[in-house]
Amino acid sequence: MIDHMSVITRFSPSPTGLLHIGGARTALFNWLFAQHHGGKYLLRIEDTDRKRSTQEAIDAIIDGLNWLGLEADQPPVFQSQNLQRHSEVANNLLNAGKAYYCYCSPEELTVMREKARAAGSTRLYDGTWRDRDTADAPNDIKPVVRFKAPLDDETVIQDLVQGSVTVANSQLDDMILLRADGSPTYMLSVVVDDHDMGITHAIRGDDHLTNAFRQSQLFQAIGWTPPEYAHIPLIHGPDGTKLSKRHGALGIQAYQEMGYLPEALLNYLMRLGWSHGDDEIISLEQAIKWFEIQDVGRGAARIDFDKLSSVNSHYIREASDQTLANLIQEPIAERIQKPFDTEMSQRLVMAMPGLKSRAKTIPELIETSLFYFYLRPLEINEKATKSLDNEARNRLGRLSELLSELSPWSEEAINEAVHKFAENEDIKLGKIAQPFRAALTGTTVSPGIFEVAMVLGQEETISRLKDVMTN
Ligand code: GLU
Repeated sequence: MIDHMSVITRFSPSPTGLLHIGGARTALFNWLFAQHHGGKYLLRIEDTDRKRSTQEAIDAIIDGLNWLGLEADQPPVFQSQNLQRHSEVANNLLNAGKAYYCYCSPEELTVMREKARAAGSTRLYDGTWRDRDTADAPNDIKPVVRFKAPLDDETVIQDLVQGSVTVANSQLDDMILLRADGSPTYMLSVVVDDHDMGITHAIRGDDHLTNAFRQSQLFQAIGWTPPEYAHIPLIHGPDGTKLSKRHGALGIQAYQEMGYLPEALLNYLMRLGWSHGDDEIISLEQAIKWFEIQDVGRGAARIDFDKLSSVNSHYIREASDQTLANLIQEPIAERIQKPFDTEMSQRLVMAMPGLKSRAKTIPELIETSLFYFYLRPLEINEKATKSLDNEARNRLGRLSELLSELSPWSEEAINEAVHKFAENEDIKLGKIAQPFRAALTGTTVSPGIFEVAMVLGQEETISRLKDVMTN
């Protein structure tokens, strides 16, 4: 049974690259699990591999998590700062006779490994120094410290996703805890940190399942209780093979740049491996309520970019006009090379209902909103120009006179006025709506033209009409 209040999970990335889509999902599952149980979710940066860890990667991970809203409940723990503590635990094991010095030379180890492989054994170290007297130790070799792993019986893990998984202890050799230079290995650091951080549940990729056996043995030897493990299947590409660069963007930042909203990505990621009935659109509140780790499937989840896009367009439509306007104001300003003033900001918010219902992505939203901000006279594209023959231009002249007297300037009033105008001229609405759209937007596709006129305002609308008349 889970003691709700005391649940503590962690996301523990190695900062050697971007925050990958798979890492983000692992973080999300840990976050959801903690939220579901009213517990805590922590972040541990596993930066003990000094050569491969970079500050840039640390920043990318933290920025990515923040963007997704998966901030940890406490400041991040940096594994590299706990090295002394890790060594201390290894030394305690040495003193207790649960670990030992191994003086094998690299050459000896190579021979040993080859022999084991040839015999089809997974025990690559044969235990040479396990019970040997250190009086025999060569002077010229700095020893490593190895864990005295159990030789008989088996190690069983009751994995919350994989079920009960067992390994015969005879298959695991005595792993290194401290390297010859005294530095702790990853396996030792993870165990000590998981314990010291009070981790109750470790949810991570199933590529760590075999590590769990060794980690669990180490926990037992030290006399600590291991966390409950949940090993989640990795994410695969649409073709079923392991996700890699050739399947498209891997880093979270790339998704941000491509215009995916964090809510959409979270919704999409939670559904990769976990489900709640057939629900596709699941809010975070619902997910927190419904998330049971047992509902995560054992099969690899395939990424589906079309589905991600459709989830994204849902969240674009759901987002508030102000949120979307804030998001795209800067990119628009860059495109039109003009900083936004208050009037432009207001115009963008006002334009948003019509824009967001048509856009699937943020770049699309940016693209389709540009015409609102282009400086006059507008460039009219070729297709739109076709609707602007002389007759149409003259007609727009008459329409502009009518509209300049319109009051109030509302979408409804404009709609009514243009309909009446078409009636008076004895033409179909399209005959005036098309050139009207061409004049106001420079294109043939846009939000509803009465809405466009309303957003542009009376003065700008009349001016844009006049521009095409004098062309
Ligand atoms: N640092 C490991 C990784 O990035 C995760 C270790 C763990 O979750 O126990 O794959």
